[in-house]
Amino acid sequence: MDQNVFDVVVVGAGFAGLSAARNCQSAGRSVLVLEARDRVGGKAERQFDAEGRAWDGGGQFFCRDMTELSELVRELGFAKARTWLKGDYRFYPPQPDEVVEAADTAAEALRERLRTLDPDDPALGNETVETWLSRWESTTLGKAAFRSMVEGLWCRPLSDIPLWFLVSNDRRNTNEENELKRFLPEGMQALAEALAARLGEGVIRLGDPVAEIRQTASDCTLTLQSGSTVRARQVIIAVPPVAARGIALTPAPSPGLARALSAWSSGSVVKMLLRYERPFWRALGASGMITAPGSGSFSCDASLEGQEEGRLIVFLGGPLAEEWAACSEEARRALVLERLTPLGPQAAHPLDITARNWIDDRYSGGGYGDVITDAEARDAERLLRTGEGRLRFASSELSMAFPCYIEGALLSGRAAAALTLSALAADDVRR
Ligand SMILES: Cc1cc2nc3c(=O)[nH]c(=O)nc-3n(C[C@H](O)[C@H](O)[C@H](O)COP(=O)(O)OP(=O)(O)OC[C@H]3O[C@@H](n4cnc5c(N)ncnc54)[C@H](O)[C@@H]3O)c2cc1C
Repeated sequence: MDQNVFDVVVVGAGFAGLSAARNCQSAGRSVLVLEARDRVGGKAERQFDAEGRAWDGGGQFFCRDMTELSELVRELGFAKARTWLKGDYRFYPPQPDEVVEAADTAAEALRERLRTLDPDDPALGNETVETWLSRWESTTLGKAAFRSMVEGLWCRPLSDIPLWFLVSNDRRNTNEENELKRFLPEGMQALAEALAARLGEGVIRLGDPVAEIRQTASDCTLTLQSGSTVRARQVIIAVPPVAARGIALTPAPSPGLARALSAWSSGSVVKMLLRYERPFWRALGASGMITAPGSGSFSCDASLEGQEEGRLIVFLGGPLAEEWAACSEEARRALVLERLTPLGPQAAHPLDITARNWIDDRYSGGGYGDVITDAEARDAERLLRTGEGRLRFASSELSMAFPCYIEGALLSGRAAAALTLSALAADDVRR
């Protein structure tokens, strides 16, 4: 065999790519990972507050039902922190407890109704979540809380999301424990770095995006932005679908695969850290969790044990994230602090605010993941999971469990590796 040809080249060193690389390498195959950024981790990204201390600007939380990730955390020897979830859950604008409870129950009932639908039922047609919601009886606040949940988690307006897609996606999130339950004090990027280190030196090349993948009868040639080339028998494109569209494929993909790639739009999300002298909300009986019925904002308490300061994480998703991005600095601050008024007047005085805007992120698309917005593209996920010729796709979006979570990325990488290893085995026999 040509020594200059890798068995597998993985494009992208997010958790999907690292997982794919690890699984191929464990099977004894030669692997190279090509990463556009100058770091690994993808949407698991270290950010720094005003005092230079690290926080998770992207993927952060997990729970024990996310078994692949939990096992990785254990294997790589990372300490876990528990998210503070005690105390009341509040609404913005503030509402009496019984109103919050009733709206929550109504929103949960809508979600349960959604979960009884069969995503493959042709009767769902091209209906969007928006029109579906308009057809159901519920309280105004219940519907608003449901909208907040969907826009906050899928980060697109309801009118963009095909009903069948939401049904299919939501039923794959099977956790019983709260998904916010745990996080890593060292941060998720550190976990990705530790996983990358296990691959060995020289296995990952950073800072040079793949621009083109050319398939021939015998192998693939990948051309990087710098102009250098790499050859591989099999390629795993471990890049979210929207970002994957930025890689030229030669010959052009089949019309089915091209359509599958173009079916997705990126979610819009902004994540923020607000630091306070102390987590004052705890003494008021509040958990720090606030949702704003009608729009996608959510906050929670991720203060570190043993440290005095309070750390509130705020997420803005969907149209609200876009609104924030279009504002001046001052208006952005006002928009966020306004949503924390249910915690009382002290919420208006954070020590500092740092934000990570993921809208149209160059290499990850957006967050929490890409969403299918072409209602007719029902087989887009399947076509991408299968791949074509010597190409396979991996990314959290394509996972059969926990799509758009780190757990999903790990599982998707494993699944793409399994297909790649089978293709290599078949190829070995032919040679
Ligand atoms: C704000 C935010 C908060 C989140 N919170 C959570 C959370 O609390 N818990 C959770 O489980 N999940 C969370 N997620 C989702 C989670 O981070 C992602 O699902 C997961 O990290 C995706 O991994 P991935 O490998 O599929 O994709 P990515 O992480 O996007 O990795 C893709 C990689 O491919 C690289 N790439 C792109 N184009 C090219 C190219 N042309 N050539 C080479 N490399 C390329 C990118 O640079 C990137 O490193 C969050 C996401 C965001 C944005």
